[in-house]
Amino acid sequence: MIETPLQASREPGPERPNESEQMAVPVQVDGVGRTFTRGRRPAVHALADVSLRAAAGETVAVVGPSGCGKSTLLELICGLQRPDSGTVRCAPAALMPQRDLLLPWASALDNAALALRAGGAGRDEARRLARPWLDRFGLAEFATARPAELSGGMRQRVSFLRSLLAGKPVLALDEPFASLDAITRAEMQGWLGHVLAGERRTVVLVTHDVEEAVMLGDRVIVLSGRPGRVLESVEVGVARPRRRSDPAIVALRERVLAALGVGE
Ligand code: ADP
Ligand code: MG
Repeated sequence: MIETPLQASREPGPERPNESEQMAVPVQVDGVGRTFTRGRRPAVHALADVSLRAAAGETVAVVGPSGCGKSTLLELICGLQRPDSGTVRCAPAALMPQRDLLLPWASALDNAALALRAGGAGRDEARRLARPWLDRFGLAEFATARPAELSGGMRQRVSFLRSLLAGKPVLALDEPFASLDAITRAEMQGWLGHVLAGERRTVVLVTHDVEEAVMLGDRVIVLSGRPGRVLESVEVGVARPRRRSDPAIVALRERVLAALGVGE
């Protein structure tokens, strides 16, 4: 399906579970706490006793208020930080960061192909492999465009494609659509649901958008305000493609909002 090298992770960080465990449950976060201490400033307790699991091929949405440690959690999962307590065991993961971080001087094609180059492919080879994906993502005509010439939705698609082409079994998506207007965001959520249905990846999707979480997740983990703790884990047993107006989706949205303490 995807013609990319599946590389072993070179990052330091989470303990790597043995292979069979890694296949069955690629993301295992157990009792994780994270506190930031900065000189004499008061310590910031970002996460407290957070446990979650994502089974192979599962999309787990993590929803919580701004500042509750969602980005920190993804960095822990990707091995970019270490927990102060608890354990993180994770198969190799690619992070789609909160800001798109595209290189402003490089074309959409080269930005998408960056992960392949980081994996050791030469420029022409990386372009050859990335090209059909741009077409599939509706970006064929924009292959040579620079990020400034792309719409917000297009930039997010290039950024997502870069994470996908890293060829890791786990995708960690950090509020992928938060910066988009409501119409584009709704379109992109539909698009991502479609892409993920055709890709057997394990996905941890962080968002502060409750509707996004229930539309895209197989399960929704609800985090409290800082320090982030798991308030509830909600199964979304609704077949795809999902409709926002589906009474089951509406009910789940209400349930998650209630868990967050938002509602009437
Ligand atoms: P979220 O993504 O849910 O908005 P973050 O994980 O970015 O939350 O941050 C959680 C808390 O930890 C915030 O109060 C933030 O200021 C603090 N924080 C995050 N990263 C650092 C860091 N590297 N140093 C100090 N404080 C940090
Ligand atoms: Mg964040």
